[in-house]
This record gives sequence, structure tokens and C-alpha cells, in this order.
Amino acid sequence: MAGEPQDDCLFCKIVAGHVPATVVRETDATVAFQDINPQAPVHILVIPRAHYENAAELAAGAPELAAAVLKETKEVAEEQKLDSYRVVFNTGAGAGQTVFHAHAHVLGGRGMQWPPG
Ligand code: 5GP
Ligand code: ZN
Repeated sequence: MAGEPQDDCLFCKIVAGHVPATVVRETDATVAFQDINPQAPVHILVIPRAHYENAAELAAGAPELAAAVLKETKEVAEEQKLDSYRVVFNTGAGAGQTVFHAHAHVLGGRGMQWPPG
């Protein structure tokens, strides 16, 4: 069922505390933690506790939760004292998605190129 934890999902395991992560913020609905392979001086992932495969599924199935994730990206950026930063939702393997539990990347602390690769 939409939103239910998946046994084979890495980020559901992080939410459940079965896989360790360096958590920087938590709310009732979301968890924010350090990316294990940072691509910038600040690289934090914000995820909904509930399992949705990607940002599109999240937006369609739980729009208030999608908004909560986006709000948390702002809180993370403020806590990290980022003036400029990038929020990325890779959606689909062709766009670089490797973990199929919706997540926002918050990247900052260095200059950014556009367009992204
Ligand atoms: P995606 O490629 O799906 O957009 O992003 C998945 C992100 O999860 C990658 O940036 C990757 O480094 C990160 N990641 C993968 N495995 C782990 C893990 O076990 N712990 C943490 N904290 N991040 C992970
Ligand atoms: Zn999951």
C-alpha cells in the first residue's frame, strides 16, 4: 500500500533505525541525514518517513507530505547557513535515482554549474 514501509528499502531501514545514519533533523513526518557519499561540502538528504518510490509518487499520493519535505530542505539550508544551495529530486534511474524512496538532496557550500550533468 502507498506509504507503507518496504522490507527491501534502504531508506525505510534508516527511518526504522535498522541502518545507521548521521541524522541532522527529524520531524514527525521527515528525517534529514548526511549523504554517505557527499558531492558538496554540505550534502544532506531529506526523506519522508513514509515510503514513496520517488518525488512524483510522493506529490501525487501525499501532497502535504511532499510540502513537508520541501519545507525541511529550507530548515536544513538555514541550519547549515547556506545562502545558495540546490535541491534535487532525481526521479527515475535515467536521471540518476539509485534509491527508490523519495528524497531531496540539499547540496551547498560550493559553486554550482548549470545545467547539471
Ligand atoms: P539518488 O542517486 O537515488 O538520487 O540518491 C541516493 C543517495 O543516497 C546517494 O547520494 C547516495 O550517496 C546515498 N546513499 C546510498 N546509500 C546510503 C547509505 O547507506 N547511507 C546514506 N546516508 N546515504 C546513502
Ligand atoms: Zn522506503
